[in-house]
Amino acid sequence: MHSQTRKQFIKTIGITALSGFTPLWSYHRQRQMENLEKKDKASYLRLHQNGELKKRGKTLWAMMESCTLCPRMCRANRLKDERGICQANAQLEISSFSPHFGEEKPLVGRGGSGTIFLTNCSLKCVFCINWEISQGREGTVRSIEAFAEMMLTLQEMGCHNINVVTPTHYSPHILLALDLAASKGLHLPLVYNTCGWERVEILKFLDGIVDIYLPDFKYADEKMASKYSSGADTYVDLSKKALLEMHRQVGVAKPGKDGIMTRGLMIRHLVMPNKVSGTKEVISWIAENLPKNTYLNLISQYRPMYKARDYPEISRRITQQEYQDAVNWANEAGLTNLDIQGYYF
Ligand code: SF4
Repeated sequence: MHSQTRKQFIKTIGITALSGFTPLWSYHRQRQMENLEKKDKASYLRLHQNGELKKRGKTLWAMMESCTLCPRMCRANRLKDERGICQANAQLEISSFSPHFGEEKPLVGRGGSGTIFLTNCSLKCVFCINWEISQGREGTVRSIEAFAEMMLTLQEMGCHNINVVTPTHYSPHILLALDLAASKGLHLPLVYNTCGWERVEILKFLDGIVDIYLPDFKYADEKMASKYSSGADTYVDLSKKALLEMHRQVGVAKPGKDGIMTRGLMIRHLVMPNKVSGTKEVISWIAENLPKNTYLNLISQYRPMYKARDYPEISRRITQQEYQDAVNWANEAGLTNLDIQGYYF
């Protein structure tokens, strides 16, 4: 840089600093320093250090020979390139990765949630908002090494966490990539962003690895689950068991002084039209079976996406009254940690 130009540059930086504006590079540096201070917060680091993280990843990987990783338990031999009901074989497919600013505020903060959208899904809802990725096979085959690099890139970009979306069928890949990334300095909390339809037997492999569980609790009626999620009539029963196990592992979600969540259970419930999602029953179950300060995001943004217009009772958005009823029920049930930020029509 020419000396006069450098002087001007330094002057500009000085003025910028004095004016109180934080330049982008400075912000990212600050976020990296904050993350380093929180380095001991990611629970998987201990299991990485003693070799357990890799061991569990390999155990889950072997299960793909006759796959039972999700409640479908379709026993596809993914290691021989068969695709299961979820459409996944053993190769990892990823749609995209980036800092995401549309997730819950305690996950987003200022740096965003480091979101990685995984292709395919075992639940197959007819109203899926991400159907191109979950059921349309949108994505690219990626190696475990590339997956680990994505995690490290998101950390470098200043994200507050690594948020794996629709993780169930790729749990082996997640653990192996996490182990590799941890060996290269990854230390952000892991967010397991799931439909909630999980086998407790598999969740136990994630104990001490996942920091934040972010499950949906979609239905209270197995007939609705079956009708709108491709015959998943065990959804209600298994999801309740899964929520109890997730809570046992990570406890109540409480943000730190900076407002950022680093650990805990954060439940999402999508309020659907015509009581399809059983909101009142969902709320009652949470209030009776989990602490009253369990984090619950009551989502109002239902839109009739994908095949939803083929089903008259879910072919419209919800009304303001339907959402207000949900909020009232949650208050009456005594739930104290409600996220109703999505209240707009
Ligand atoms: S994860 Fe996929 S392959 Fe495995 S049991 Fe579920 S649907 Fe079948």
